[in-house]
Amino acid sequence: MALKHQAPRGTRDLLPDELERWQWAESRARDVLARYAYREIRTPLFEDYELFARTSGESSDVVQKEMYRFQDLKGRDLALRPEGTAPVARAYLEHAMGGAGRCHRLWYMGPMFRYGRPQKGRYRQFYQIGAEIIGTVAPAADVEIIALFVDLFEAWGFRDLTVAINSVGTPQSRRAYGERLRAWLEPVRHRLGADSQARLDSNPLRVLDTKDPAELDLLAGKGGDLGPMPRMLDSLDEESRAHWAAVLQALDALGIRHEIDHGLVRGLDYYTRTAFEAHDRSLGPGQSALGGGGRYDGLIEALGGSPTPGVGFSIGLDRVILVLEQRGFAPPPGPAKVFVVAMDETRAPAAVLVRELRREFVVDWDPEPRSFGAQMKAAGRSGARCMVLLGEDEWKRGEVVIKDLASGSQETVPRAGLEASLRAQLGGELNREIPSR
Ligand code: AMP
Repeated sequence: MALKHQAPRGTRDLLPDELERWQWAESRARDVLARYAYREIRTPLFEDYELFARTSGESSDVVQKEMYRFQDLKGRDLALRPEGTAPVARAYLEHAMGGAGRCHRLWYMGPMFRYGRPQKGRYRQFYQIGAEIIGTVAPAADVEIIALFVDLFEAWGFRDLTVAINSVGTPQSRRAYGERLRAWLEPVRHRLGADSQARLDSNPLRVLDTKDPAELDLLAGKGGDLGPMPRMLDSLDEESRAHWAAVLQALDALGIRHEIDHGLVRGLDYYTRTAFEAHDRSLGPGQSALGGGGRYDGLIEALGGSPTPGVGFSIGLDRVILVLEQRGFAPPPGPAKVFVVAMDETRAPAAVLVRELRREFVVDWDPEPRSFGAQMKAAGRSGARCMVLLGEDEWKRGEVVIKDLASGSQETVPRAGLEASLRAQLGGELNREIPSR
């Protein structure tokens, strides 16, 4: 019979085997974030549509083509969140967090939604981990955010990460740069696709976001006599230039590998100064970005707050985990499991024992009253490290049998000493935690 329902296009189920990798990655991330003294924030999965329309730019792909926009039963104009920074900024304002008068370090993790064309590493529901420092213009905050970004990847086992970095200046210096870029591209306008031609008119910086290989060649100076592309760094105002120099110097001091990417710009007005990204080429040209971030000194003001600077990033967890998978990564095994096997006569006390043991151990058993042989098979399949057998005679004598499923050896112990024996037997495998760095 054909299945009536499948997960909607662009979404997928994360099944238990795969989730072990996710949980490992999430738990490593939580450790790093806690050591950086960032605190978690959870915002709703949907918000007013306007929040995103205003902050992501009406002309952006996310707003024009990728938003899950809907009306609720009262006709409210809502959207599933396509990203996490605008909701965090909204919450920051709504709860007057700035009143505390110091900078706030926040992080979030959860699903985001964009109606893109699904492919490997690109989904309609995907997961991000992000962090923000709100309330400081100090270059040291940009550097801290980049260090945190890199240390998250390190905690996931990426040893070879280079951060691409650029400065996008201020809205004024960016507009000046946009004009230089437009003048540079004008002679080859006819070689650009329709989207890029429109962007050349509306917001020339966004032409640099193109994924089209022919356009990328053109921007790289191949196949034309355009001369080198103008660089944003050459259009920076004095303060942004000083900020940029301070960021680079501190990155060097921390030994964070980075390379300047002149094509890394953001076309929206609230982005300022530092912009950065990390890529993994194995994911394919359109979805190689593992994460990115930057300064957004104009965002909170755009949402109606008083001018408040901020800097942050978001990392695509789906892609991180895809890369880990490609590298053959397997998460460390969880704590060892115990399987309880009962006879017909010991089924009732077994239920009590299972509950008691579950206060300390990971315990599985067969909830159906099945034969001894069937339970033994289930124990073998369950991946348990050892079995606890409640034989009728032993139970009457106040004893149980512990069987080691790897070696096959077994011993009879008094019920009262069961926990101590299990502890001794499972040793280091008990409550095994993820090894720290
Ligand atoms: P962005 O907010 O577009 O800068 O995205 C930040 C990160 O989220 C990217 O670097 C990707 O790793 C991830 N990401 C963005 N869109 C998707 C998507 N549709 N599917 C999976 N990951 C995504």
